[in-house]
Amino acid sequence: MKRLILSTLALAISTAVTAAAVNAPTFDPHRLSDEVKTLSSDAFEGRGPATPAETKTIDYVVAQMKAAGLQPGGDLVNGKRAWTQAVPLLRTEIVGTPTLSLSIDGKSQSLAQGNEIAVRAPMDGSTSVAIANAPLVFVGYGVSAPERHWDDFKGVDLHGKIAVVLINDPDFETGVGDFGGKAMTYYGRWTYKYEEAARQGALGMLVIHETAPASYGWNTVKNSNIITMFDIVRDKPAAVHPQLEAWIQRDLAVDMFKRAGLDFEALKKQAQTRAFKPVTLKGESFSASFKVDSKVITSHNIVGRIDGSKKPDQTVIYSAHWDHLGVGQPDAKGDRIYNGAVDNATGTAALIELGRAFAKAPRPERSVVFLNVTAEEKGLLGSEYYAAKPLYPLATTVGVINMDALDPHGPSRNFTISGSAKLGLLDDLIADAKTFGMVYSPDPKPEAGHFFRSDHFSFAKRGVPAISFGSGNDWVDGGLAAGKAAEDDYTAKRYHQQGDEWQADWPFTGMARDLQVLYVLGSQLANSDEWPDWSKDSEFRATRDKTAAERK
Ligand SMILES: [Zn+2]
Repeated sequence: MKRLILSTLALAISTAVTAAAVNAPTFDPHRLSDEVKTLSSDAFEGRGPATPAETKTIDYVVAQMKAAGLQPGGDLVNGKRAWTQAVPLLRTEIVGTPTLSLSIDGKSQSLAQGNEIAVRAPMDGSTSVAIANAPLVFVGYGVSAPERHWDDFKGVDLHGKIAVVLINDPDFETGVGDFGGKAMTYYGRWTYKYEEAARQGALGMLVIHETAPASYGWNTVKNSNIITMFDIVRDKPAAVHPQLEAWIQRDLAVDMFKRAGLDFEALKKQAQTRAFKPVTLKGESFSASFKVDSKVITSHNIVGRIDGSKKPDQTVIYSAHWDHLGVGQPDAKGDRIYNGAVDNATGTAALIELGRAFAKAPRPERSVVFLNVTAEEKGLLGSEYYAAKPLYPLATTVGVINMDALDPHGPSRNFTISGSAKLGLLDDLIADAKTFGMVYSPDPKPEAGHFFRSDHFSFAKRGVPAISFGSGNDWVDGGLAAGKAAEDDYTAKRYHQQGDEWQADWPFTGMARDLQVLYVLGSQLANSDEWPDWSKDSEFRATRDKTAAERK
């Protein structure tokens, strides 16, 4: 039934050709295909940051941006803009196997790294960790949200202590409440939990893993946390990272609560209310001892630019990450290269072609920046660095349109964005897409927190309106059945695997059409006085409003 309504609607709209659709330049699918083919070829070795493949990637993308007619928009070097922004990254690793233990009523129980606990290599600047019998305090969901009149900490002193916290936000389980119901707000994301732990002065934090609210199993936790860690080099790393950042298995947590005379499920229920107060796990403490190997490596964002004709200080940003996973363990066929064709040679090609289209058109009133960021796969780090050290002020950055893993197949009747959010930029995108006969399909799993897992988020959390465009799955040719089959195939055989390789039968016609929509959106922003904003109840609105005076 739903499908029928969707396609009838699409038909009705596509017969009414509107101004935006007519004025949009066309994009060449062959160019897109060629660029994706080159960037994802074995010669580019999976585009690992700070490897020889980085130099190769930068040389190629810069040459394409130049040929497309863009100007360099990166670091100021001797008064001139370079094509890149240097991104210093901190690389940290736990040396050997960490010694971890829990003491309950004087009895020590050792914890196996990767088994019941996953401790991340520290990113607060520590070169070694020696935590001896630190008290444990359960802090509910670990949320401090003044705009929602919510504070799980209630003034508790966490210095020298380890906070124990639930994943997701307080209304995930009930589905109704002040945190977007089932959808995840930023307060539900583990990155927020650790940042808040640092702000609260905690020595460390243990996030209790539960599959449903985390949206992934323990294997994902293990595989993405007990590895080499990266962060941007920060002026004050301890302001956002406690010394110890770890996850623990739910079973261990339930046992810890039980042995402290507490009921895990009952306390979780309490944590879903404003009345919750932190609870000390009496008679229990946590110890950890290990050395840390850390060094600084340098990667680069690639930055092309078109200067605005009337308001050059106001900036519209298109972004996409160029990096992928590089070279790793061989698969069954002996292939060691993670080519990253869809993820994210497609976004990089899109950026180049959008640049070409803007360079051909009359100069926009506002400046347009084409930001090809590094180290997305290591935790959104290139975009985080740009947003922490912006080349152009964030207060007068109108909006960020991010592209990650676009669909190289034919056109769809729909599109989506990563995660759920309410903001003017999305309203504009929905209106523009409509003129091309495309409808918006919201993220079917907003509780997974996809909004916080793509490069636009580095901007969003600093208040800049930002979204990641996602290709649709209701194909003009084959409908949802064909679109979903392709999605499933990608997830099973290609996503973050050696099989994410360019294919000769990819038409790229869907991407070419999607880029028309994204061009219209950016062009309208670049040729207007509009400042799209977050909805009133968004957790990012207050941050944006702080700089409102700079947008008059
Ligand atoms: Zn990606």
